[in-house]
Amino acid sequence: MTAFHIWTIGCQMNVADSRRLAESLEKYGLEAAQGPHDADVVVLYSCVVRQQAEDRVHGQLHALQQMKAARPHMKVVVAGCVSDIPDWRHRYPFVDLIAEPGQDLTVRDRLVDLLDLSERYRFDPEQAVRVPGISEGVTIHQGCNRSCTYCIVPSTRGGERSRPPAVVLDEVRGLVARGTKEVVLLSQIVERYGRDLRPRVLLSELLRLLDEVEGLERIRFLTSYPGDFGRDLVDAIAELPRVCEDVNLPIQSGDNDMLRRMKRGYVVDNYRQLIQRLRARMPDVGLSTDIIVGFPGETESEHQHTLDMLAEFRFDVVHVAMYSPRPGTVSATQMDDDVPREEKRRRLHDVETLQKRIATEINAGYLGRSVDVLVEGTAKGRWYGRTRTNKLVHFASDEPLAGRLVDVEITATEPWYLEGQLEPAAVLAC
Ligand code: SAM
Repeated sequence: MTAFHIWTIGCQMNVADSRRLAESLEKYGLEAAQGPHDADVVVLYSCVVRQQAEDRVHGQLHALQQMKAARPHMKVVVAGCVSDIPDWRHRYPFVDLIAEPGQDLTVRDRLVDLLDLSERYRFDPEQAVRVPGISEGVTIHQGCNRSCTYCIVPSTRGGERSRPPAVVLDEVRGLVARGTKEVVLLSQIVERYGRDLRPRVLLSELLRLLDEVEGLERIRFLTSYPGDFGRDLVDAIAELPRVCEDVNLPIQSGDNDMLRRMKRGYVVDNYRQLIQRLRARMPDVGLSTDIIVGFPGETESEHQHTLDMLAEFRFDVVHVAMYSPRPGTVSATQMDDDVPREEKRRRLHDVETLQKRIATEINAGYLGRSVDVLVEGTAKGRWYGRTRTNKLVHFASDEPLAGRLVDVEITATEPWYLEGQLEPAAVLAC
């Protein structure tokens, strides 16, 4: 379970806000840590009204910097009042998020995004030291109006709300001005973006606007819902130079009866047609999916249908989870969690074993190819970054390459990453 710690200084409002934040994080399933040392995320409610208060905030930030050096997975979030945000970002590059006052998203929502989406779908290598700011998540849409029977999101995050394009554009321009090269547009159901706005806006239209932002190199978005993924979006990914050929499209199961019990609103063949459309326009598109094993009533043959589907569709990455009943959901209140844990574990293992073989084969096809990589940081003394199709690539160089786009020739492949060497004259852009 993820543990949080909140440190608060200053006015009654900070105290009240941090209490509310703690309550809502607990509702979300996080637990309060004993202190910063055993927390996965530390939120610092800052106050800069008097110099003395600000000095204490800086003192805390220095202490957190040392803790984070020892425990790099720990996230640090600054909320409340901050005096000079660009200066703080510069002084404290290890801070994962400054939740600026006056933003149209609550601190909780921004924090949940930080812990949740961007991490889940973007694995960093072991011992990664990510250079902050190069690739940033930008929430564009919150909540979900669907009612998948297993999912708690509609009750924890409420109905769908989009941020107007002008607000998103502003945030992205601001990030680019501070050195960001890639933005990952975040939502629980990203194709629904803009449908609540007046006038209505489509995700593909937002992508076209963002594609014009000077200095931005790459745009990704996640997570998708197959039922809403229109042809306009396929066209936008294929046509727009900054939008990466990288799609996370959760299918959840390869069995139509199971999809009906999950209330997913599509059948496997709808999904098949969609990925055929994507691959027809972009043969190399990076495709990842989510699978739940051991959903109530899942039979051996339904599980086998999922394995058959994975063997047919050949995803680059599969995020697989054992079903867990979430409070208040239809599956938790009206269905029996009747697949034993051992059996769930076996099915999870089946998926992982099959996927490892598929990913090994797909990645082997990269051997000898040249790929363009946006360099995000270092891990174990080498640079790492990602291709447009979201393949993690490691390579060695003594040059300062953080935030650069480079050409790398792939010299070795593994199921979860590629290794390569920098091409001569490889730096494409800064
Ligand atoms: N856009 C996505 C979709 O179409 O489903 C929603 C992403 S969802 C919020 C994140 C992932 O968590 C889901 O794809 C699902 O695989 C997993 N998940 C959600 N509820 C779960 C549960 N009760 N048990 C296991 N995994 C769950």
